[in-house]
Amino acid sequence: MKAKAAVLFEVGKGLKLCEIDVEDPREGQILVRMAAGGICHSDLHIMTGHLVAPLPSVLGHEGAGVVEKVGPAVTTLRPGDHIIPLFRFAEGLSS
Ligand SMILES: [Zn+2]
Repeated sequence: MKAKAAVLFEVGKGLKLCEIDVEDPREGQILVRMAAGGICHSDLHIMTGHLVAPLPSVLGHEGAGVVEKVGPAVTTLRPGDHIIPLFRFAEGLSS
């Protein structure tokens, strides 16, 4: 699936709006169709290098959306649930 995302490629260089490929959710992950989003202070800290994140990173985690798909082992959410995402680095993502 394709999606539009605000991507940080390099600290201090700002965000670029890009079309990205989105995989199906892996174990413990969900796929959310965002209805609204923004850039928060955590994102600004990553953009300025005060917080370190793996790059490139998709920023703009604050907002609201609807769960489209759930990955294996997800038991507390299901498609159609309305959610508010929180800031957290993904575990185990190295590429
Ligand atoms: Zn935030």
